[in-house]
Amino acid sequence: MLSKFLLRSDLPVIAFIAIGSNLGDSKGFVNKAIHELSTANGVKLINQSPLYRSKPYQAIGEDYVNAVIKVETLLNAEDLLQLMLCIELEHGRLRSSVNAPRTLDLDLIFFGSSTIDSPRLKVPHPRWQERAFVLLPLKFIASELVTDEMLEKVQVQEINLIE
Ligand code: ADP
Ligand code: MG
Repeated sequence: MLSKFLLRSDLPVIAFIAIGSNLGDSKGFVNKAIHELSTANGVKLINQSPLYRSKPYQAIGEDYVNAVIKVETLLNAEDLLQLMLCIELEHGRLRSSVNAPRTLDLDLIFFGSSTIDSPRLKVPHPRWQERAFVLLPLKFIASELVTDEMLEKVQVQEINLIE
């Protein structure tokens, strides 16, 4: 009985997802991904950052369009990742090589206060603090999660708000 109670999965969890695109209609892909995530079963959009444009960082190709969204979800972390990977695939993402240009990249940054370290899923995302394109949009919607010290470390990375 007790273990069943502890395994309840009907409590909503707050999750943050970073979205990026640098191939094709990037703005359109990011907006469509936000729409698809927020209308998926078991996912509710709580807040979204504005869109940003960033220079590829440790990557090649066109400039990226980036955003971060905050959702409330009844899915577990694995299922949320699965949904994200499906949406990436729907947009024709090809995994040609690591850091290659991509129509859509969806990264799970936080899943509640969970720490997950499985071969398929690592949460918090291992590189979230190294990336201006995660930190700036995240600061916009969850300023308590991003410190000035974190921002200082990424200030050489070029990123701007899109009008
Ligand atoms: P990156 O986004 O770091 O440039 P990729 O998008 O190419 O790398 O990597 C995708 C793979 O990373 C997926 O197959 C997924 O299983 C794995 N992965 C591990 N942790 C996460 C996470 N927190 N968010 C998204 N994908 C993750
Ligand atoms: Mg990814």
